[in-house]
Amino acid sequence: MSSQQMKKRILTGDRPTGPLHLGHYIGSLKQRVELQQEYDEYVLIADVQALTDNFEHPEVVHQNVVAVALDYLAAGLDPGVTTIMIQSQVPALAELTLYFLNLVTLARLQRNPTVKEEIHLRRFKEGVPVGFLVYPVSQAADITAFRAHLVPVGEDQLPMIEQTRDIVRRFNRLYGETLVLPEPLLSAFPRLPGTDGKEKMSKSLGNTINLSDSADAVRRKVMKMYTDPSRMHPTDPGHVQGNPVFLYHDAFNPNRNEVAELKERYEKGTVGDVEVKTHLVEVLNDLLEPMRRRRTEYAKDLATVYAILKEGTNRGRAVASATLVAVRKALRIDYVRCADRTREEATGCWGSNDHS
Ligand code: ATP
Ligand code: MG
Repeated sequence: MSSQQMKKRILTGDRPTGPLHLGHYIGSLKQRVELQQEYDEYVLIADVQALTDNFEHPEVVHQNVVAVALDYLAAGLDPGVTTIMIQSQVPALAELTLYFLNLVTLARLQRNPTVKEEIHLRRFKEGVPVGFLVYPVSQAADITAFRAHLVPVGEDQLPMIEQTRDIVRRFNRLYGETLVLPEPLLSAFPRLPGTDGKEKMSKSLGNTINLSDSADAVRRKVMKMYTDPSRMHPTDPGHVQGNPVFLYHDAFNPNRNEVAELKERYEKGTVGDVEVKTHLVEVLNDLLEPMRRRRTEYAKDLATVYAILKEGTNRGRAVASATLVAVRKALRIDYVRCADRTREEATGCWGSNDHS
């Protein structure tokens, strides 16, 4: 057995609906970079899922596939060890989704708190597309197709992992032990707030600092950030709790002493928002600068990026197809296997319990 086969597997991904931001980084991407040597890691650019709420604008999804791939490579995913794939090019995922749909009730899908919140935000003009409502099922197909043990995600994705676990348990109980039961992996910052103070930094809310933002854009966005609304003057005692500027310091500033000191002075009213924000701009630009350099290198050589996607997708397709074979067999719909046998061999293949 090769070392790659012995390693536990990670599957995770992002919707190509816009540039990746600090929320993605601290919620999931950073862990992927840290774990990519220790685990056999698969990362999916979920374009099919992105189409569920962008079906009127496929060009947006198309453009963002390469943008997300560049974000990955910039953030430090190493294509030598991590498999980066494009969801739509792995057709086994669509077929698996179809089988899993039988194992989920409509009521269960409608109760999913993240989907509920997203439906509210999206304000679909002609009602909720079925494809959108069932995206947690297609996500279960993604996770199980790659036989993932671990799924590094932000907090909003916990209901999706729970849904996946339900499907896996149900499938294995009904049809025999076939699928791997996955676990979520939450980071220390599973829900980074937006620059506007809203609960979640999100592409759809327009409150992001992107990994691809220039140093100037980072400065502008930080300087406009929401802080403590009850504080009028720098000499007023301020609130650190729930203040996104300090939350970002906690998440990204490696100098813990500086953070502790700034918090203390803020609470006493001896430091202004501008100084706290100026430090944050430096911290964020220190984090993003190496990413900008790597991005520039890869952006000069898009042919290499396409080759990475093609090779990763091919590798992923083989893994997903193998799972699909096992799933068809468990579902007793592996007729082709019977048809391929000689007459004698096929005896006991059709309509029997011989599924060896
Ligand atoms: P969209 O608005 O299009 O859904 P998004 O910003 O929610 O975009 P996704 O592609 O849905 O991004 O999420 C990819 C991964 O990043 C998921 O694991 C998600 O939980 C995580 N993530 C997204 N935003 C945050 C955040 N603000 N804090 C922590 N994790 C996040
Ligand atoms: Mg999302």
